[in-house]
Amino acid sequence: MENIFGSKHFNAIGPYLKDVFGSRVAKLAIDGGFTCPNRDGTKGIGGCIYCSSDGSGHFASDIDSQIRLLSEKWPDSKHLAYFQSFTNTYAPVAVLREKYESALSHPGVCGLAIATRPDCLPPDVLALLSELNQKTYLWVELGLQTTNEKTAEAINRAYPLSTFDEAMEKLSAAGIRSVVHLIFGLPGETAADMLASVDHVIEKEPFGIKLHELYVTKDSKLAEMYPKSYKPLEKKEYINLVVDALERIPQTITIHRITGDPPKETFLAPSWCLDKRSVLNGIQMEFKQRGSFQGKNYSPKRPSL
Ligand code: SF4
Repeated sequence: MENIFGSKHFNAIGPYLKDVFGSRVAKLAIDGGFTCPNRDGTKGIGGCIYCSSDGSGHFASDIDSQIRLLSEKWPDSKHLAYFQSFTNTYAPVAVLREKYESALSHPGVCGLAIATRPDCLPPDVLALLSELNQKTYLWVELGLQTTNEKTAEAINRAYPLSTFDEAMEKLSAAGIRSVVHLIFGLPGETAADMLASVDHVIEKEPFGIKLHELYVTKDSKLAEMYPKSYKPLEKKEYINLVVDALERIPQTITIHRITGDPPKETFLAPSWCLDKRSVLNGIQMEFKQRGSFQGKNYSPKRPSL
């Protein structure tokens, strides 16, 4: 196997979309005004222990102003409307239709990325996503974070792995692209646990994977555990884990993220997360030192760890 990704070393979503659309494609972070069943009491109260009060949507603003800003630097850029904050399929289907179609009606928008939970894809929502998938470029992002049931309980994810597996089957049957989020450094997890999550996700053949480190924000439950009962990963540990993971992921799977983007105002720890450039450089250096790249150690029949 050879490195077909040049200096990037992996199948980064940016160049992939440039090939598909013939120009740069930027994501516009949209806050659709949703909440989450794990915060409003339906599944849980307060949410996952790392969830911040904006549901990870700290960059969200309106479509026009984001396009205006981006066009100063990239006048020919196309855009995907990224419904990012909280759970973006958690509303009556008529409300979802109105929000998605309103974003798509913007002349600068060429597709949709919708972040949600696997337990928020009932049949009518899937039917809507399926319909939109025929009309536009669409992917659905699922926040899995880990396949380990004990960790899932510790982080208060509030759904079992079987729900994720079922959601992946439904999305795949509908021909809808899926992107799976995994977090490295969750409380109590070993490197073997994290790589087992990667292996499980690979088997489901998603369109894409997002990786990032766990960081602590002041407004999360994790802040109460830090530093007494939660110790974040060291930078070098994280870099090694990302490269280990990417080496196992087949080259066909697109990589949407390899570091976090913490909100500076509420950020608590670990401080290395704030220097994203240095983390990205460290990952590139590690690939170079190993003479390695995405998929180098991919094995369709990997023995369990
Ligand atoms: S599923 Fe997402 S939005 Fe909901 S509580 Fe967890 S992190 Fe927050």
